[in-house]
Amino acid sequence: MRKTNRPGCRAVNVKVYAKLLVPASILRSGEKKIPSLFFRRLSVRKSQLGGLGLFAEEPIYPGELILRLGGCLVGRRTATDRNVIRLGKRLFLTESGDLDDYINHSCVPNCCVDFDNLYLVTLRSIGKGEEITFNYCTTEYEIDPTFRFVCRCGYERCPGIISGYHYLDASERKRLKPYLSPFLKRRA
Ligand SMILES: [Zn+2]
Repeated sequence: MRKTNRPGCRAVNVKVYAKLLVPASILRSGEKKIPSLFFRRLSVRKSQLGGLGLFAEEPIYPGELILRLGGCLVGRRTATDRNVIRLGKRLFLTESGDLDDYINHSCVPNCCVDFDNLYLVTLRSIGKGEEITFNYCTTEYEIDPTFRFVCRCGYERCPGIISGYHYLDASERKRLKPYLSPFLKRRA
């Protein structure tokens, strides 16, 4: 669960994220805060993966948009930024304070991130009442040791403790390649 330990929006150099296709209206306005958008009926409930999670309240087909991730674009994270998503070398998306903060990790998720638009897209059909997940190792190269966590996804090759892309073996890295953030693609 992305905890709602929200930092304020700190200044970030526009040039840093010029290559990231965040919605043009936001870039033009100079806003650093991206509002979450929800395209499907969703709810936050207790998760078998641990803590709270985000759940579908209606069936969703493969390739559909579920939401747009929100948050503040910041140039660097601080030690208290537990669940910030890394978009670039010096570009991070903080928690939004909205439902999208509750998306849990799974090694075999049912969604991935479209990094051009920050959309969460379904990889397969999702049933009503199913938890929505994406793989944190598609955005995080090396998770801070204090924020590493035990994964209960049940995948036969689950590493158990999620520490980031850097700690995955070659075959897992290959499996995740199509879903990596632009930042990880450059490092992969
Ligand atoms: Zn796992």
